[in-house]
Parts: sequence; C-alpha cells; structure tokens
Amino acid sequence: MTRLSAHWDKPVVLVPTMGALHAGHLALVRRARTLARRSGMVVVSIFVNPFQFGPKEDLSRYPRPLARDLRLCREAGVDLVFQPQPEDMYAPDRSVFVDEDKLSLGLCGAARPGHFRGVCTVVAKLLNLVRPDTAIFGQKDAQQLALIRRLVRDLNIPVRVVAAPTHREADGLAMSSRNAYLSFEERSEALALRRAILMGAGAIRGGERKAAKVREHMRVAFEAGTQLGRIDYLEVVDANTLAPLDVIRGDVLLPGAAFFGRTRLIDNESLRVPRGA
Ligand code: AMP
Repeated sequence: MTRLSAHWDKPVVLVPTMGALHAGHLALVRRARTLARRSGMVVVSIFVNPFQFGPKEDLSRYPRPLARDLRLCREAGVDLVFQPQPEDMYAPDRSVFVDEDKLSLGLCGAARPGHFRGVCTVVAKLLNLVRPDTAIFGQKDAQQLALIRRLVRDLNIPVRVVAAPTHREADGLAMSSRNAYLSFEERSEALALRRAILMGAGAIRGGERKAAKVREHMRVAFEAGTQLGRIDYLEVVDANTLAPLDVIRGDVLLPGAAFFGRTRLIDNESLRVPRGA
C-alpha cells in the first residue's frame, strides 16, 4: 500500500471526523494548520464508522452533508479529505479488531457496549492508512481521547496525539453534530448538562473533596435545569485512569452524558486539585 507520508517530507496532521462538520471540528482543523505549518499537509478524514454504533443507535440517521463538509474543508485550507466507504475500510471476512479492556469499560463504554472497540479499530486503521506525524482529537470526547492515547502507547503507533479544547455555542453548549437532532424545547434545556458539570467543578473549587457529594450536587443541578433530560451518568473520575474517585485529588475529570429525547449528549470539565489543597 502506498503511504501518504512516504511522498511528503513535510508534517502530515490528521483530523479524524465523522463529518457533519461544525465550528468545533473547524477549530481542530485550524490547530492542524498551525501544527502542519504552511508547507505541511492537513488531512481531514470523514468516515461514519458503522462499527462504533450500537444496533439501536443513530447510524442510519447520522447526518452526512458531504458537499457542505467538502466546501468547509476547502474554505479552511484542508489539503486532503480522506473519505473512504465502509467497504473500502472493512473486508467482508475481517477478523481483527482492537479491544481496550480498562479505560473503555465505564462511562460511555458502559452505556454503549462495543462502541470503543469500533473507535479503537477505526482510529488504528486511519493512522495506518494516513501515517500522520500528528493526529488531533477533541477534549469534548474525553474518554475517547484517553483511550486513543492508550492505543498509541500500547501499540507503539508512531504518532503524536494532540488534544484540542472543547468548542462551545455562545450559551456554553458543547458543539456536536448530534445537536442538530434536538427539538427547540430539548435545545433550550440541553444546557442543564453543562450547568450540572460546572456545579460539580464549582463545589470542588470551593473545597469539596468527597466525590459522592459532588455527584449529588451535579444530579440536583441537572434535575433543577431540565424536565426533558435524563442523566446517563454524571461522574467524578481520575483524568488519567478514568477510575471513579472517592476522595478528590490530582487530575480530575467530571464527565457527563444525558439524553434529551433520543439524543445523547456528552460534556466534561477537567481540573487539577493539588495534594493537600
Ligand atoms: P466526531 O465527528 O464527532 O467524531 O468528532 C471528530 C473530532 O472532533 C473528535 O476528535 C471530537 O472530539 C472533536 N470534536 C467534536 N466536537 C467538538 C467540540 N465541540 N470541540 C472540540 N472538538 C470537538
């Protein structure tokens, strides 16, 4: 197989996406442009990976506005859009998948069995196909980011993983391709997830060190902010291991997921609690 980087002696920076691009993706592309410098190559992959969707999830209705995505990529100065089809990516008799069996079990992995197996497999394949020097992932998908760092470390994949901060709507809602599914009423309550997480972070900054108390603050704040929303999880975990915490210290991640109607939204906040603070 020909590899892109073999024909290109300048940095190649990859931004993997599932398309339906929004300003959050474009912020990753801008970051990629900076890292690639003017002479390097920015590659955006657009692939709605069937193996990361559960049987009852939104694979068939996932938005695929390809012409618009290509225009946005062109306008953002992307050098190459890699847009494979499922049949290009998966042989009919495929039999090798990448499984991670620690970080992927909790949080979104608990609610979406098989999801991270699909993610790890497709990311490994995209990295093998494009062979970028650097790949950029959003902090919005914090569990995915932690897993990809682990994947790259444990399989010795020669790529630098760069995290990009979460890009938000004016009112603070994390941008997501799935926000387009929300009805007007759901959209107006969706911020309850963000508010709950910020409430948890505020309690920690205010000195709370019992994770159970912080979880309870988050739950109460969520329920006060929405009638339509349903919590999947609101957690307090170690940012590196994603293990639930009892006592809050070190690098802490507050991840949350909630349903608004059939739409599942995620968000998170990370903070550092120095020992003894
Ligand atoms: P997706 O198309 O949803 O698979 O996302 C592709 C990449 O964009 C992933 O690395 C996501 O974490 C990242 N991403 C999605 N939404 C945002 C956002 N609001 N801010 C920053 N990065 C994002």
